[in-house]
Amino acid sequence: MNSMTLTEVASALGADPSGYPEREITNVTLDSREVNDGSLFIAVKGDRFDAHDFVPDVLAKGAAAAVCEKRIEDAEQDRMIYVPDTRRALLALAKHYRAGFDIPVVGLTGSVGKTTTKEMVAAVLSQKYRTLATQGNFNNEIGLPKMCFKLDSSYEAAVFEMGMSGFGEISRLTDVARPTIGIITNIGVSHIEMLGSREGILKAKMEILEGMSPSAPLIINGDNDLLPKGVEGIANPVVVCGISCPHADCRAESIRQSQDSMSFVINYRGSRYPVELPAVGMHNVYNACIAFACGMLLNVSPEQAVKGLSEYVPTGMRQKIVRRGGITVIEDCYNASPDSIKASLRVLRDLDCKRRIAVLGDMKELGSYSRTAHLECGAAAAENGVDVLLAYGPEAKAYVEGAEGGIPTALHFDDKRELVMKLCSMLQEGDAVLFKASRAMKLEEAIESVYDVIAG
Ligand code: ADP
Repeated sequence: MNSMTLTEVASALGADPSGYPEREITNVTLDSREVNDGSLFIAVKGDRFDAHDFVPDVLAKGAAAAVCEKRIEDAEQDRMIYVPDTRRALLALAKHYRAGFDIPVVGLTGSVGKTTTKEMVAAVLSQKYRTLATQGNFNNEIGLPKMCFKLDSSYEAAVFEMGMSGFGEISRLTDVARPTIGIITNIGVSHIEMLGSREGILKAKMEILEGMSPSAPLIINGDNDLLPKGVEGIANPVVVCGISCPHADCRAESIRQSQDSMSFVINYRGSRYPVELPAVGMHNVYNACIAFACGMLLNVSPEQAVKGLSEYVPTGMRQKIVRRGGITVIEDCYNASPDSIKASLRVLRDLDCKRRIAVLGDMKELGSYSRTAHLECGAAAAENGVDVLLAYGPEAKAYVEGAEGGIPTALHFDDKRELVMKLCSMLQEGDAVLFKASRAMKLEEAIESVYDVIAG
């Protein structure tokens, strides 16, 4: 972070700067354990703790100042900034800080594919610019400000991921990030419970434009059923990426999937560039097209963009293909939504193997849409040639119902160990197994048990 002065912070937060001494702020933190002399501590109330309780400690540790909602009587008052809402203050200060950087900032949202696309965009931009990209899941109203404060004068570009679960969140995040380029990866069904309908989801994602100048381009997936209509009539230039939609600016052609990569040709406004992407699945081709287009908008050369994509490394528990003892495992336990389950089933379908086994756990946070979504994904498993479906969790019963005799063996389990035992008893060389579920289902435990058995 570049340093700020306490008076600058006070005025950014609407306090009277004349009441504060000249003091340097070298970091902003919400975590009392991270506090040092230059810290500005913002006391945010969490689920388990109210950080106001730590303010006396934090000041004793030498924090430059603390931002609070409640008056702390025995504190030196020229180290206290009082605001009505510390979460809002965090956003306001991050907005002020971000405004000090005249660099390209890519703001990225979408129902699925945010993290993957962000990593691909960063891989492309890093070929030309020193690029800061959102780390971990720092994509909400706490995380995005934290990422903004990581900017410093050495960075030449930034890619910020924006997540949401309801209306207004993207609006507040885009107001902080002020993207010079926006990206919407797709409109799916995640968080439909909060947003009522897919049109509601579209509307919430389109809030990204509120923080963008009308001349700032918006990159979209043109093959999504709602996005092309959704952007009709907006002032911003729209860059369309896709495979089958008409009039794409950036189109993937001649797509081939091999065991662990996708090869395709990007046709960017009539010029063609072959790409080798070390990730599988058509969904990743879309993500890569978006990243390529973003690079073109920022004057990365096509050769650099291609190189960046070839160096992309999948992160965390997101789709990873592992081969053990003649068995191919698609590990994909980071998250699950109907869109991402269908994408993963297509990856399984396109793998070269003797038998396809899908181990699918519950998808969470779908509210009243949950049963329909699980039924649909069960049907999608059948359509994509799954030979064995092992469903895990209370909601997952509907996968089996949705598969409706379209899958020779479709079984439901409430117990993870029983599922693992069944799976291990049937595994044969040449099988490909997809593991996919919402994070809360901890399906990675089943993968580990299966690896132990294969290794043993
Ligand atoms: P998010 O950050 O939006 O949750 P991720 O990039 O972490 O999304 O991807 C989560 C899962 O969604 C991946 O493991 C993959 O199975 C699937 N996925 C990724 N990109 C797409 C996409 N463009 N369309 C559909 N599914 C996708």
